[in-house]
Amino acid sequence: MAIDLKKTDVVIVGLGAVGGVAALPLARAGLDVIGLEAGTWLTPRDFAPDELRNNFRGWPQSAQKANSEIPTHRPNSSAPYSPRLPIHPMMNAVGGTSVHYWAQSWRLNPWDFKVVSETTRRYGAGRIPRGSTVEDWPFGLEELEPYYDKVEYEVGISGQAGNINGMIDKRGNIFEGPRAREYPMPPLNGTEFTERMATTARKLGWHPFPGPAAINSQSYDNRPGCLYHGFCSRGGCHVNAKNSTAVSTIPKAMETGRLNVVTQAIVTSVAVDDKDGRVNRVVYVKGGEEYFQPADVVLLASYTYENVRMLLLSKSKAFPNGLSNTGGQVGKHYFSHHTGATLTALFPFDLNTWYGLPAQGVAVDNWADDNFDHSGLDFIGGGNLWVYSDRRPIGAASMSTFGKAPTWGSGWKSFIKQNADRWNIAYLQKTTLPYEDNYLDLDPTVKDGLGLPVCRITADHKDNEKKLGAFIQDKTAQWFMEAGAIAVERGPNGTMGPSTHAYGGTRMGDKRDTNVANRSGFSHEVPNLGFLGASVMGTSGAHNPTLTAQALAWRTAEHLTKNWNAIARG
Ligand SMILES: Cc1cc2nc3c(=O)[nH]c(=O)nc-3n(C[C@H](O)[C@H](O)[C@H](O)COP(=O)(O)OP(=O)(O)OC[C@H]3O[C@@H](n4cnc5c(N)ncnc54)[C@H](O)[C@@H]3O)c2cc1C
Ligand code: SF4
Repeated sequence: MAIDLKKTDVVIVGLGAVGGVAALPLARAGLDVIGLEAGTWLTPRDFAPDELRNNFRGWPQSAQKANSEIPTHRPNSSAPYSPRLPIHPMMNAVGGTSVHYWAQSWRLNPWDFKVVSETTRRYGAGRIPRGSTVEDWPFGLEELEPYYDKVEYEVGISGQAGNINGMIDKRGNIFEGPRAREYPMPPLNGTEFTERMATTARKLGWHPFPGPAAINSQSYDNRPGCLYHGFCSRGGCHVNAKNSTAVSTIPKAMETGRLNVVTQAIVTSVAVDDKDGRVNRVVYVKGGEEYFQPADVVLLASYTYENVRMLLLSKSKAFPNGLSNTGGQVGKHYFSHHTGATLTALFPFDLNTWYGLPAQGVAVDNWADDNFDHSGLDFIGGGNLWVYSDRRPIGAASMSTFGKAPTWGSGWKSFIKQNADRWNIAYLQKTTLPYEDNYLDLDPTVKDGLGLPVCRITADHKDNEKKLGAFIQDKTAQWFMEAGAIAVERGPNGTMGPSTHAYGGTRMGDKRDTNVANRSGFSHEVPNLGFLGASVMGTSGAHNPTLTAQALAWRTAEHLTKNWNAIARG
């Protein structure tokens, strides 16, 4: 028998990077919020500089719901399934994946909000890739700027502004859209290697700058600055210098007395009142018991795959095809960031990148978005070039031999001994678009630990993304060779399997027939159901998604507080 609980104002499903942010404006507005979180609290004592545990064994195994529901993947509807990942890198914990992410905290650039209209204006309508379902966002960067600003200050971001109210500062990203003020903290320190790469970029006539990070470069909000020893890619920070929502916005929301965090609560569906089609409760499992949590408003913040799966699993008389899916748009316009087509370089000298962290790097945006003329090119969009300081023993020894040594035995060992600190891999994030035949649905046979179908991804990179990938590899090769590299190696495009940058599925837009969410992040079909996370984003830009998803989450939460009666009471 399910246990009926007392009604609350708002339930947030998932207290990760975005749910953990949305809780703060809601709680400050005096709403009673229950955060249902599948994971547990983790503390600095849980974090160890252990590459095997963090990067290969999917720590913390005890709490990893994500591993029991890894989406299946096939490149298209008639292709065989790809091998299933052994672990999924997303985290189940209070703070979600912001506990162990790299913490790069980028804003999108102005073009990313207007890909269709700006491409058409500059190059003609024929340049939108065939089959793409991309739309302009329902608003531009200027609408999101105040929310980026709030999140940067409440979470705590270090960085160097490049455009304050139109005043360009060459120390920062000269291509960024106008921002109201500086970052709350200066950027993280550079290293000898990132300085070398920055100097080289300037020689090439490019504009290098230190990237923004949700990591303290100095004391902030009573937590210390970063110590630069690394091992926090897929690991938490044991001195709390990394600003996960578990140490920033969630504790601030709890201080108001309005946020109640329920851990190890796995939400299985969202129920509606069949009479009016409004959401009225959330069903979750905790400690083997089933609970019904009634609420006036439900916000889904369980990451793209789970947001979509939750809707498709929540069938009712009012929504027989899944909640908010009468229009058949749930799962559509899905894409994952093209971060394949990597570029690896070998140098003839040590780089000393055995300390530091992936958010401590140097970026070049000259080839991002539409920052360069595409007239003579056969693709749209671009990539952010990013090199950083981070080296761990197993990863270092897994290096390529660049065709210069055997791949086993004593010849291999002596090559690795000499070169483990002489290679570097650039992280290249590229514009990725939605296409009509890339989508998410429920897998017909594979189930999770509770016996519910997992999400199925049907998606692959298209021509535009592949051509762009090759172009960005060329630019990165030029950068590395000019910096003294003696060899470079190009990685393959790969395919669109489960990703840590997964977008769409509940896309936001004014048109009801092509979008699940309206411009405020609430369902077009169910007025008291909202969506938080990159599942509402219709374009990726060339930068990591989290800060944008967090700014959108704050905006949706604020919209709710300002329109409470209309949304909660109908
Ligand atoms: C190793 C790594 C490095 C990354 N680096 C960066 C970076 O540098 N910059 C960047 O912008 N992004 C980065 N990302 C991506 C970033 O982590 C995500 O964009 C971000 O965490 C997404 O926020 P979210 O709140 O939607 O999901 P999450 O942060 O994963 O939070 C979702 C929460 O929902 C909970 N949940 C899920 N299902 C249920 C359920 N059924 N019931 C109850 N709770 C549930 C989960 O336990 C989790 O706490 C990285 C990701 C990884 C894995
Ligand atoms: S390098 Fe910085 S963010 Fe990473 S664990 Fe150390 S102090 Fe924390």
